[in-house]
Amino acid sequence: MDKPQILRWLEETRPAALERLYKLADTIRCQRVGNEVHLRGLIEISNTCCRSCAYCGISALRGGLKRYRMTRLEILAAAFKAKAFGYGTVVLQAGEDKGIRAEWLAGIIRAIKEKTRLAITLSLGERTLRELKIWKKAGADRYLLRFETSDRNLFRRIHPPAPGKKTTDRIKLLRFLRGLGYETGSGVMIGIPGQTFESLANDILLFRKLDLDMIGVGPFIPHPETPLGATTKSTIPGQVPNTEEMAYKVIALARIACPEANIPSTTALATLNRAFGREKGLRRGANVVMPNLTPLKYRRLYELYPAKACLFETAEECRACLKHRILGMGRKAGKGAGERKRRAPAIFL
Ligand code: SAH
Repeated sequence: MDKPQILRWLEETRPAALERLYKLADTIRCQRVGNEVHLRGLIEISNTCCRSCAYCGISALRGGLKRYRMTRLEILAAAFKAKAFGYGTVVLQAGEDKGIRAEWLAGIIRAIKEKTRLAITLSLGERTLRELKIWKKAGADRYLLRFETSDRNLFRRIHPPAPGKKTTDRIKLLRFLRGLGYETGSGVMIGIPGQTFESLANDILLFRKLDLDMIGVGPFIPHPETPLGATTKSTIPGQVPNTEEMAYKVIALARIACPEANIPSTTALATLNRAFGREKGLRRGANVVMPNLTPLKYRRLYELYPAKACLFETAEECRACLKHRILGMGRKAGKGAGERKRRAPAIFL
């Protein structure tokens, strides 16, 4: 698929044509990654953050927000739960929290590995090369870092550099992560004020160029207490809407562009459509869900955007709900780590 084709699909609105796109994505998903839906247990280990991202509900700009960092014991307890629930992976996600010290987290990674053998994914923002190396060595398998938008100017506007730094380059960091041997994941928000169809088409091409192992996309949901919270309606020409349908289109196009990638049906999507968002994502290219394992007392403090789905569900309820949804669709819960499988190159005889 080339850029004009991607652009045409992004701008397509005829329901029958979109059904064809979704069908194609679903068929490719089934052929290339199968019917298993992999469950990644999400542990939001800290909402402390030093960055001022204009979209994010836990950014440092939110002075009034109570901050937490889970203890080692709390993180291990959540990881054991993931094991007991039959999940293959835990995802440790947080704000960019300098209080998460390299050695402290390395000890936790080693303990999780030793005691559970689960695959470990980190999603901790832009960390130093030294930290990323230490965590890889300790046993971390994967890293998620969305580049949010490939439009450099827009990125700069919504994502100021870390305090004391002049620039920030997530693409470079993604390449470095890959070089260290991490399975590498990235993605974007859909409908950021100022995001054009053209830049979104570039995002999808970049997914392929980076040869991502995991691609997470979801609608941008304005948080009223952030700088982008008030600008729900941007007037720029070619503005991408932050709708459910746009999110499905991007999931489908990501699947077609990167047939073997692991693609979650995200919580942001479930937030826009609580009844069927997850299932619809899974029918339009996605093959992963991320049930929440964060202790309930911290859950409401990790509200990246308002009315986030699953905010008041216990880990047990999240598990039951998602399993029920997966089986109800005639799919099955994935077994094992669900790592990205690379197809052997075709052999021509
Ligand atoms: N600190 C980590 C984890 C951030 S939370 C990092 O920066 O990578 C994970 C993702 O949530 C972000 O990458 C972003 O794409 C998404 N997110 C944050 N605020 C959002 C909002 N208002 N609407 C939709 N998605 C949002």
